[in-house]
Amino acid sequence: MTKSREVRLMKRPVGAPTRDLFEIATVDVPEPAPGEVQVRNRWMAVDPAMRGRMSDAKSYVPPFELNKPMEGGAIGEVITSNDAEFKAGDIVFSRLGWREVFNAPASALKVRDCSELPQQAHLGFAGITGLTAYVGLFDVAGLKDGDVVFVSAASGGVGSTVCQMAKLKGHKVIGSAGGARKAAFLKETLGIDEAIDYKAEPSLTKALARAAPEGIDVNFENVGGDHLQAALAVANFHARFALCGMISVYNSTEPPAAPRNLMQAVVKSIRMQGFIALNYMHREDQFLRDVTAWHKAGKLELAETVYEGVDHSLDAFFGLFSGENLGRMLVKLS
Ligand code: NDP
Repeated sequence: MTKSREVRLMKRPVGAPTRDLFEIATVDVPEPAPGEVQVRNRWMAVDPAMRGRMSDAKSYVPPFELNKPMEGGAIGEVITSNDAEFKAGDIVFSRLGWREVFNAPASALKVRDCSELPQQAHLGFAGITGLTAYVGLFDVAGLKDGDVVFVSAASGGVGSTVCQMAKLKGHKVIGSAGGARKAAFLKETLGIDEAIDYKAEPSLTKALARAAPEGIDVNFENVGGDHLQAALAVANFHARFALCGMISVYNSTEPPAAPRNLMQAVVKSIRMQGFIALNYMHREDQFLRDVTAWHKAGKLELAETVYEGVDHSLDAFFGLFSGENLGRMLVKLS
C-alpha cells in the first residue's frame, strides 16, 4: 500500500467557491491490478473550467462527483506497470490530477516525450492550454496576414500562449491583464505591442481604441463581459471573434451586465465562434510539431506560476479568479 492525498469536492458552490466545500483526504493505494499502472503525479494544473464542473449544470464534461477526488490534467511518473505498453520511469499525461498517487488502466494514460520539452510544458504550451491557443487563433479565428489581434486575460496560460503565437507570426498584438506587473510582463517578456492594465482604466473601450487606432481584426476572448463589449466596439468590418472562455462570469449568480452592444456584430459583419479545444484533438500532431519547433527556436517560452504540494492546490485554483498567476497556473506535487 502507498499513501496518497487527494482533493475532494464535498459540496457544490454557489458563487465563488470557498475552502470549506473541499476536503483533502489521505487514502491507501493498493498494488496495481493486472492491466493497471501505478503513477505518482509530478505536476497538476488548475483550470477555470473546473469551476463549471463543480456545479451540476449540464455541460460538455460531466460535473465532478461529490465526495470523490476531482479530475484535471496531470503529468506523472510510472512507478509500477502491469501493462506491456508502460514501464517504470515513463512520464505520462492523465486527467487524474488533484491526487498524488493513483492506479489506472493503460487507456487513461498517454506517454509524453520530455526529451525536448520540460515535463510541465505538457500542461502548458504543449498541452491542452497550447492547443486551445493554437486552434483558437489559427482554426477558429483564421488568423491571416496583417490581422491586429486583441487577447483578454493575456498574461494567463492560454492568453500568454496566444500572444506568443500571434507575435511569432508577425502580428500586432494587444493584450489586457489586471495590474502593472502583468502589463509589464506582456510588453517586456512576451514582447507584445500594447498592454492594457484593465484595472487601471476607467473605460476599457477607450483604452482599447487608443491601443488599436486601426481597429482589431481578431478577438481572442477569455474574459467576456466588458472585455467582449470593448472588442465589439473597436472591431473592424469582418473581424473574427474566437470565443474561448468568459472567466468574468464563472462565479456570477447574476447574468452579466455586458456586452450591451451585440448589434455591432451585425453592422460590422463580425463572425463569432465558440470552441472547445478537446474537439480539435485531430490537430494535436501538427500542433505538437509546431510548438516544439517554436520552442527550440526560442520563440515560445514556458510562462508559469507554481504552487508547491497538494495542500496548496486549492490556493492555486482560487488564485485563478483573483489573478495570482502569470502564465499557466501549476502545482508541483513531488
Ligand atoms: P488563466 O491562466 O488565464 O487564469 C485566469 C486569469 O483570468 C487570471 O489570471 C486573471 O487574470 C483573469 N481573470 C480572472 N477573473 C477575471 C475577471 N473577473 N475579469 C477579468 N479577468 C479575470 O486561465 P486559463 O489560461 O486556463 O484559461 C483562460 C480562459 O480560457 C478561461 O476563460 C478558460 O475558461 C478558457 N479555456 C477554454 C478552453 C476551451 O477549450 N474553450 C480550454 C482552456 C481554457 P487578470 O489578473 O489579468 O485578471
